[in-house]
Amino acid sequence: MIEKYYPDLYFDSIRHIDIKMLKQKGIKGLILDIDNTLVPMHSKDADDNAVSWIEELKIEGFKVCILSNASEKRVVRFNKAIAVTAIHRAYKPSGRAFLNAAGIMGLEPENIAVVGDQLFTDIIGGNKVNMLTILVKPIDRKEILFVRLKRIPEKLVLNSFIKNIEDKINKRLEWKKRSLKYEKNRFKQKQ
Ligand SMILES: [Mg+2]
Repeated sequence: MIEKYYPDLYFDSIRHIDIKMLKQKGIKGLILDIDNTLVPMHSKDADDNAVSWIEELKIEGFKVCILSNASEKRVVRFNKAIAVTAIHRAYKPSGRAFLNAAGIMGLEPENIAVVGDQLFTDIIGGNKVNMLTILVKPIDRKEILFVRLKRIPEKLVLNSFIKNIEDKINKRLEWKKRSLKYEKNRFKQKQ
């Protein structure tokens, strides 16, 4: 089912996300990807744009958690200027990674939005546990080969998403709910 890869929302950048609208949707926390979502791929530190946006989120009362597949060294350094909860080597798109973040944030998956630039890690992972998924366009076009290869099928999914945005939405939301039950069971079994 291609719809499980669809984001709930799609924006040009983090700055285009309507924070008030998130509140109206019952969102209380955000799980954020680093690379190509908050900063360009190889930026070691959080820049002013990322720092000030996350500051805004905090002021609005959102809980914020960084969820990254990058190394501990990378994530710890990046998080210095932001100082939020941060999980490294998350193994996204594992549902476990997202449920773990939800547990740390003390929120139900339904009250969390995931923001990321990749359908096959951030978006499918968030969808698996029925979080609100927000895709942003990658900041930097210069990506490593592995990511560039993933962009090819990603483009096919996105094209289909844009065409089917209305009629496939309900089927998708049903799948997200079912999948959360499954992922929660797996999560419990492994603890
Ligand atoms: Mg990324």
